[in-house]
Amino acid sequence: MPETSLSIRLLGEPVLRKKASPVKQINSLQRDTLSKMAQLMYAAQGIGLAAPQVGINEAMIVADIGSGLYKLINPKIVKKEGSQVMEEGCLSLPGIWIKVKRAKKVIVRAQDEFAKTLTLEAEGLLACVFQHEIDHLKGRLMVDYASFFQRLKIRKKLAELKTRPIDEELPESKTKSCKLQL
Ligand code: ZN
Repeated sequence: MPETSLSIRLLGEPVLRKKASPVKQINSLQRDTLSKMAQLMYAAQGIGLAAPQVGINEAMIVADIGSGLYKLINPKIVKKEGSQVMEEGCLSLPGIWIKVKRAKKVIVRAQDEFAKTLTLEAEGLLACVFQHEIDHLKGRLMVDYASFFQRLKIRKKLAELKTRPIDEELPESKTKSCKLQL
């Protein structure tokens, strides 16, 4: 049965810390999930979303930085080059922003929703999004990159998030010049 509706899971939910299973057979179920993930990502004004963030423990991500929608299955980074630091947010950690150093350029190999193998080259923002989302598939969150002092600063916010009831309304995101919600 396809899931009828998906919702974004927040820090504290075990699914966010699990390694996602590779998708072995790509069919209408995955296509349906990917299109629902994309809808949810756009509705939340995000630019990337990984399946574990909607409670599905499968290796699938969606991303759109404004230049077109990517729906990727079993994505893997096969090459990294250079480095860049970007301030990132995460739909699973609302209101928290962390500067994360990642590769500036990546080559990603994945399958599309019809099982065709793709090789994508990404740079800058898109490279950042792919790395953030592929981290989600490994159970890794951007807070894992935070320095000791950054962690202290966000500890209170994290504690609030962990105790927040799942269906509680989230506060409006703070005004931010750079809004990368992934
Ligand atoms: Zn995220």
